[in-house]
Amino acid sequence: MQSYGMVIDGRAVNTKDQDPVINPAFGEPFATCARASTDHVNEAVVAAKKAFATWRKDEALRRAKLGECAAILQAKAAEIAPILSQEQGKPLNHAMMEIFGASMWFGYYAGLQVEPEVLQDDGDKRVEVVRKPIGVVAAITPWNFPVILLSWKLAPAFLAGNTVVAKPSPFTPLSSLMVAEALREVLPAGVLNVLSGGNELGAELTRHPDVRKISFTGSVATGKKVMSCAAEDLKRVTLELGGNDPAIVLDDVDPDQVAEGLFWGAFQNSGQVCSAIKRIYVPEKLHDKLVANLADRAKRTKVGPGMEPDVELGPINNRMQFEKVLAMVEDAKSKGGKIVAGGARLGDKGYFLPPTIVTDVGRGVKLVDDEQFGTALPIVKYKDLDDAIAQANGTHYGLGASVWTKSVARGTEIARELDAGTTWVNNHLDLSPMQPFGGHKWSGIGVENGSWGYKEFTQLQVVSTKKS
Ligand code: NAD
Repeated sequence: MQSYGMVIDGRAVNTKDQDPVINPAFGEPFATCARASTDHVNEAVVAAKKAFATWRKDEALRRAKLGECAAILQAKAAEIAPILSQEQGKPLNHAMMEIFGASMWFGYYAGLQVEPEVLQDDGDKRVEVVRKPIGVVAAITPWNFPVILLSWKLAPAFLAGNTVVAKPSPFTPLSSLMVAEALREVLPAGVLNVLSGGNELGAELTRHPDVRKISFTGSVATGKKVMSCAAEDLKRVTLELGGNDPAIVLDDVDPDQVAEGLFWGAFQNSGQVCSAIKRIYVPEKLHDKLVANLADRAKRTKVGPGMEPDVELGPINNRMQFEKVLAMVEDAKSKGGKIVAGGARLGDKGYFLPPTIVTDVGRGVKLVDDEQFGTALPIVKYKDLDDAIAQANGTHYGLGASVWTKSVARGTEIARELDAGTTWVNNHLDLSPMQPFGGHKWSGIGVENGSWGYKEFTQLQVVSTKKS
């Protein structure tokens, strides 16, 4: 079984202690990776702190290196993608797209210009607001999009002049270790360190006194722990947490036209997208037709191991998550929910739940109230649009939301009423490097991407110069 090592201070580092990495399509380990010790955490933070002293000074070099990171990820995509597909479960072509996406993010930040803001410039004085890097950043990522979510942190953090110690999820460490190995060829030693290990490694990193900023993507429960740990030492935090995105279908749509968009808004990456559609609100008169459409699309979906050709959806990434989603489907059934597609495990190996559509559910059912993060989608019937909007807004989450309608003006108006960091009309999941992305309420604090995401990796400084 191949073993994958870490990168600390520009060196490849492996350990005697290894952790297995499971391929969720088979439920069996297919590779192992290093397990970082406390000494490795210290070495990585010391290296990052040392590298920060010079890295922060040369913006032109940083931009050049970001461009080189973009190029090397393009060049290595075909090598990294099969490992990403096997550790995460996603189809190989989606894994390729994820790595190309990460490359695009580096390219975007290589060229992003954020000018100092001049507040006053007259005969008396010049007052401007400039952005300074923070120092050593801990970048902690989840298992659904290990490579692109890492790039959302690394690229703006580097542009701002920070150095990073990254820690991928123990379910999907290998692609991040491969990215670290690839970027080692272009980045100065210590600028990027990547450590693998369990959840306790994340906690250890967030406690380290020389880590000054934590950029965390993961669940609400862990995000709260990260924030309380950061509070003790007043570390800066950005938290990108879970979502329970509603899609509200208005009464003027043609179900034949919106079903495909709704289906992929919900099931992309086997539903394991923080801002996927996690519940659909549909008016009574369109309910049966839309459900029939969605069920038909679900039944036609090719589900299987991500490395097999033509597969559209892979397994759920890990046993714990698989069992959680199955339990939510059972909870819905026990409360009157009807399964119109899927609903049961596929095969006896791996963690496959084919796309599952559940009707006759509403508030009080876990699949509606909580984040499922998997291949099960509740459809909630509504009579009154205001009530549907109230239900859509009636959770602790606020990551994304969408409205589906023939009237763009009406859709935009309703989109503005929804409590979410991103609201879409006739679309869900459309993201870009220049668009800030973050959650309201429990879905997060701060944002990633665009100039806003860059600013999260800086602290502002006022430079006030008396001219006379
Ligand atoms: P998780 O919270 O279990 O783990 C995320 C990361 O935190 C992992 O690397 C984990 O090892 C680490 N970790 C665990 N305990 C820690 C601690 N005490 N201190 C520091 N780090 C710790 O989340 P997950 O199951 O890997 O990911 C799924 C969740 O992530 C879902 O809720 C999903 O919605 C969310 N997510 C959010 C976004 C977003 O941008 N808002 C994007 C993707 C995923």
